[in-house]
Amino acid sequence: MKAIVVERLGPPDVMELREVPRPEPKAGEVRLKVEAVGVNFADVLAVAGEYLTRTRVPYTPGMELAGTVEALGEGVSGVQLGQRVAALGGSGGLAEYATVPAAGLIPVPESFSAAQAAAFPVSYMTAYLALKTLGRGQEGEWVLVQAAAGALGTASTQLAKALGMRVIALASTEEKLDIARSLGADVTILQDDPERVKKVRAAAGGQGVPLILEVVGGSRFPESLEMAANRGRIVFIGNASREDAQLHPAALMKRNLTVTGLWLTSLLTDPATAQEAAAGLAPLIASGRVTPQVGPTYPLSRSAQAFQDILDRKTTGKVIVEP
Ligand code: NDP
Repeated sequence: MKAIVVERLGPPDVMELREVPRPEPKAGEVRLKVEAVGVNFADVLAVAGEYLTRTRVPYTPGMELAGTVEALGEGVSGVQLGQRVAALGGSGGLAEYATVPAAGLIPVPESFSAAQAAAFPVSYMTAYLALKTLGRGQEGEWVLVQAAAGALGTASTQLAKALGMRVIALASTEEKLDIARSLGADVTILQDDPERVKKVRAAAGGQGVPLILEVVGGSRFPESLEMAANRGRIVFIGNASREDAQLHPAALMKRNLTVTGLWLTSLLTDPATAQEAAAGLAPLIASGRVTPQVGPTYPLSRSAQAFQDILDRKTTGKVIVEP
């Protein structure tokens, strides 16, 4: 089968399309015929060797995928051959076939295309956990969404609105702000607007924002502290700037701020937390109030280009690779 292989870590062009043996499902695993892979910023960081966990090479990137069950490993029950599923794992998605643990399979709503199914798990689970579980967002409350036209940004904007919150969206271009507006963002501000701190505070009634989803980090992080309301909560989800962010605890005192980290992988190790997010999202999916925003789609052979376009901030919605 064809698969992307990374032998040394670095920029996206280290990714090579190769012919490799089709993987055999081990006990407790299933093999999927991969139909769509969601490419996350985390995949780009993993290939660069800059992710939260060490990337061991050689490996095939791709943590979020959708496809049909094509073979069952020993001891697997309750899964049908031909079933459409999504899966969230460490790696292996960027290939024609991938093996994943049966226990982690995510059922796919009938109404979702394969691309939508692959666009869903990471962004929407993260958005839910950030807005509700860790961020404790309330109906009617303002939330600041950074990189609002991206995969997580579109999910967060859509979900916040569906949960009755009011959204201030930041993004780097007017075209990206148009996307945020189309998803219901109440206020949109350019990421590089020189007046951004003042404008964000003013938009939230002059009091600052009670909940901030931080995905840029670096030198922008201190600004988030300035944008926050008294007793504001900042959920630190990502560091897309790839710069170090400085945090002096004393800076939190003036307005009684809380900064909470969020890493989906470690949160999902707690079944009750995963269940809470799935249960919170299910009615919103069923009613069509949240629908994954599929962005540009690339063939497997152009995976490196997909990764480069994410790095160059050219993409909106979830980037998809179709083997
Ligand atoms: P996106 O589709 O949002 O793409 C990244 C976006 O980040 C860009 O489009 C860009 O939007 C913005 N950005 C800001 N500064 C930079 C920069 N210096 N270089 C590149 N991009 C920049 O990707 P994802 O939805 O996959 O991820 C968004 C963020 O959320 C990332 O930081 C990611 O690591 C994090 N994340 C974390 C998770 C967790 O478990 N902690 C789970 C999911 C995502 P713009 O041009 O508008 O500024």
